[in-house]
Amino acid sequence: IVYLDYNATAPIRPEALAATTTALRTVGNASSAHGPGQEAAYAVDRARAQVATLLGCAANELIFTSGATEANNLAIRSAAGPGCDLVVSAVEHPAVSEAAAEVAAHAGGTVHTIGVYRDGTLRLDELEEALSARPALVSIMAANNETGVLNDLDLVVKLSHEAGTLVHSDATQLVGRLPIDLRKLQLDALSLSGHKFGAPQGVGGLFVRRDTALAIRPLAYGGGHERGQRPGTLNVPGIVGLGAAADAAACHLDQEMVRVRLLRDRFETAVMTALPGTRRNGHPDLRLPGVSSLTFDGLPADAVLAAMPALAASEGSACSSGALEPSRVLLAMGLTRDEADCTIRFSLGYATTTVDIDDAAHHVIDAARRVRAALYPNTT
Ligand code: PMP
Repeated sequence: IVYLDYNATAPIRPEALAATTTALRTVGNASSAHGPGQEAAYAVDRARAQVATLLGCAANELIFTSGATEANNLAIRSAAGPGCDLVVSAVEHPAVSEAAAEVAAHAGGTVHTIGVYRDGTLRLDELEEALSARPALVSIMAANNETGVLNDLDLVVKLSHEAGTLVHSDATQLVGRLPIDLRKLQLDALSLSGHKFGAPQGVGGLFVRRDTALAIRPLAYGGGHERGQRPGTLNVPGIVGLGAAADAAACHLDQEMVRVRLLRDRFETAVMTALPGTRRNGHPDLRLPGVSSLTFDGLPADAVLAAMPALAASEGSACSSGALEPSRVLLAMGLTRDEADCTIRFSLGYATTTVDIDDAAHHVIDAARRVRAALYPNTT
């Protein structure tokens, strides 16, 4: 099977698999004072430094979590006080939009939702307007999971800080795929998830800037782990896998970015040339190198996907595929419901090869032609 669903989850990197396997075979609770406990604590420290290097932050600015969903909830819940407003974009992952809706409802505040243009980029005019309500937090994603479209976070931070508002970004789809430097990008908080860049599933983190006014309030109460901000025995095998994946991603980022972009472009050219009426969604340049969101005119995505079982790709986002609702992201960009229903997301990454891409293009072209012939038998 050709796997082009890296935005749902990426294959584990060999370095991460080795580190996690070693940790699974090793006893030790990172909170214990004895030798095995201290070995585990040392492995966690090392992983924290590796993730910090990938992000350009300090190790003590990281809180390990179960993934980006938890990290997003932790940041958003922490920012909210009574009556506070929150600002999110219309294309956030539910781990941000649903968390914001829940938190604002509890706090008696309002969520302001910033729209996007047809190319998926943020309506900064709407952001400026929302900032005049003096919200407690702006949460804008770094890269969209369905289209790969990138936001100008520097500008979002500048506008928000000028208005006295804290900024969080869900960078789940960007970390490990494009460079980021939190020394330059002055976000107050950032969420990441290991399984999108080659760590095991179920581990991630929240960066919280040391001198930010954002005071983290834990989601759960228990021990003093992660300085009381995320109690619970540390997931040592997951965390060391996250560290190893971060290290490998940081080492190869420059080459991987270029290689993956070329493969993605090769795929798009092959498919769009062979299938007239195929449209690409999202800004042509301001997007992740490994994502291709394609709308196949008149061909329902579920039918095309079913016609190519040897290719793993997804309809809208993986979390909502299987649901009957069309993609909120594509609708927010102004696609019609029919267009959204005819859209497939292909996402590739560090282990994708040229052979994979050529096979994938062949499967897509063949499947689309068969679905077209079945649905529109009288046209040529
Ligand atoms: N945010 C975005 C943009 C995502 O793509 C995902 C994964 N689908 C998440 C958050 C949730 O991440 P996790 O699986 O680590 O909870």
